[in-house]
Amino acid sequence: MKNYLKNVFPPQITPQNQPIPGTNQVPNSAGGYSWAVTPWQRLQRFLVLGSEGGSYYISERALTLENASNVLACIKADGLHVVQEIVALSESGRAPKNDPAIFALALVAAYGTDEARAAALAAIPQVCRTGTHLFQFAEMVQGFRGWGRGLRRGMAAWYTALETRRLAYQVVKYRQREGWTHTDTLRLAHPKPVSETQGMIFKWVTRREEAAWARAIQPPADEALAFIWAFERVQTAPDAASVIQFIEQYDLPREALPTQWLNDPAVWEALLVKMPLTAMIRNLGVMAKIGLLTPLSAAEKTIIGRLGDANLLRKARVHPLAVLSALRVYAHGRGVRGDGVWSPTARVIDALDEAFYLAFQNVEPTGQRLLLALDVSGSMGGGMIAGVPGLTPREGAAAMAMVTARTEPQYSMVAFQDQIVPLNISATMRLDDVVRATSGLPFGATDCAQPMLYALEKKMKVDTFVVYTDNETWFGSIHPAQALRQYRDQTGIPARLVVVGMTANNFTIADPNDGGMMDVVGFDSAAPQIISDFTLGKV
Ligand code: CA
Repeated sequence: MKNYLKNVFPPQITPQNQPIPGTNQVPNSAGGYSWAVTPWQRLQRFLVLGSEGGSYYISERALTLENASNVLACIKADGLHVVQEIVALSESGRAPKNDPAIFALALVAAYGTDEARAAALAAIPQVCRTGTHLFQFAEMVQGFRGWGRGLRRGMAAWYTALETRRLAYQVVKYRQREGWTHTDTLRLAHPKPVSETQGMIFKWVTRREEAAWARAIQPPADEALAFIWAFERVQTAPDAASVIQFIEQYDLPREALPTQWLNDPAVWEALLVKMPLTAMIRNLGVMAKIGLLTPLSAAEKTIIGRLGDANLLRKARVHPLAVLSALRVYAHGRGVRGDGVWSPTARVIDALDEAFYLAFQNVEPTGQRLLLALDVSGSMGGGMIAGVPGLTPREGAAAMAMVTARTEPQYSMVAFQDQIVPLNISATMRLDDVVRATSGLPFGATDCAQPMLYALEKKMKVDTFVVYTDNETWFGSIHPAQALRQYRDQTGIPARLVVVGMTANNFTIADPNDGGMMDVVGFDSAAPQIISDFTLGKV
C-alpha cells in the first residue's frame, strides 16, 4: 500500500494526456492537460494579445467569444477592478493594440454594476485617446446597450475635457472610422461647451456650412480655429507649394490633406518634420515608394535619428510589435496589399532592428543562467499575434526571446516540438532573419517538458527556464511542471520556470501552486523586465 501511494502522491511522472492526480488541471485544446489560468490572468492575456486572427485551434470569433465571457466573469467578480486593469494597461502602452481595452471597457459600461458602469464611463478619456478610439468605443458599446444618459455624458466629457487646439486636431485628423463621424457622436453626446472657441469647433463639426469663419480669406486669430481654417483652405490648394506652406505654418497632419498630394515627395518631406513617430514608422514604405526615403537622403537621416531615440520611442508609446511589423513590411520592399514596391535601405532596416529593442521597457540583465526555449510545434505556426498579418506565435516567440538573449550575458536558446529542434539563431542576428529562421520549420507534436529534460540530459546548469509557448502541451510522458521538479531534485538547483504565453487562451503549463513558476504575457512590452525581476526573485 505504501508503494502504491508513493507512486501516486506526490505524483512525479504523469503522461501529459492525463491530469496530474491531486491537481486541478484541465484538458487543453490539444488533448493534453494543463492548468487553467485565473480569469484575471486571462484578462491580461486578452488585453495584450487580443483575439484577432484566432489561434491554431480556434477561430477569431470563437476566441473573441471565449475572452468576452471571461471579461464578463471578471466584471461579475469585481467590475471596478476590471476598469483599473483596463486603464492601467491601456495607458502604459504595454499592449500592441488598444482595441481589446476598448472592447473590455464597452463591456463594463454595459454589464457592470451601477458603480462599475460609472467608472467605465469616467475612464473613456483615459482609454480612448484619439477620435478613432472614441468611434470604436461608440460602435462597440452600442452593440451591448442603449444610449442612456450616463453614456451620453461620458462621451460628452471626452470632448469638453480636450483643450481647444487638441480638440481641433482630433476632429480634423480622425474624421471617420467604423461608420462613425464626430458629427454622429457630438449629436448623440450633445456636450455643453466650456468655452466659446470649443462651442465654435463643435458647431463646425455638426453644422459645417454655418461656420463662415472657417472659409474666410484671413485665418482666425485663435490657434485652434486657425488650424481648422487651414484644413478647409488646403482642400482647394492649387499646387504643392501652397500645400507645403499650410503644413509648415499650421502643422497639418497627413490626414488633413486631399489624397492627390500624397504622392508628392516634397509634401511628405514637409509632413515628416512634425510627423508623429507611430505614423512615421507605419509609412516608411510609402516614403520609400514615392522616392523621399532613399539611401543617404535627408529623410533617411531624420528617420534613423528618431528610431534611435529611446526617450522619443517611449514618449510616443511606440510598441515593439509595431516596430517589428514595420520592419517586416519595409524590409520586404513591398506593401501588404501589394500596392507599390521600393528598395529598402540597409541603414533603416538596422535602425528598425535597434528600435524594436529600445521600445521595450528598460530590461536589466540578471547574470543568471537562462535557457530560452521556443515552442515551434505545429500549433505555434497558426493564428496571428495582435492582428499583425503573417506574424504567427512561433515567429513572435523568436522575437521575444531575442530581447532577453540580447540582454543576458549567460543564455542558451533552443527550440522544441516533441523533441529538441536545431535552430540557427544568435543574438547578433537581425530580427527579420530570426523570424524567417523559425517560420520555415516543419510542424510537429508538442512536449513542453522537453527543455527541462534536455537540460537534465545535457547536464546544463540552468537557473531559469523561459518557455515561449501556447501551453497546448500533450505529447510527453511527463508534465513540464514535474520535469522541472525532477530537474531541481537531480541538480540541486532551485530552478524557476517562466511561461511566456503567446496566445490569449485559457491554459498554462506553470503549476500555480509552485512559487518558482510564473506566467507572463507574450508581447507585453514589460514582459522582458518581469522575466528579469522573477529570475532575480524580486517578484
Ligand atoms: Ca503545439
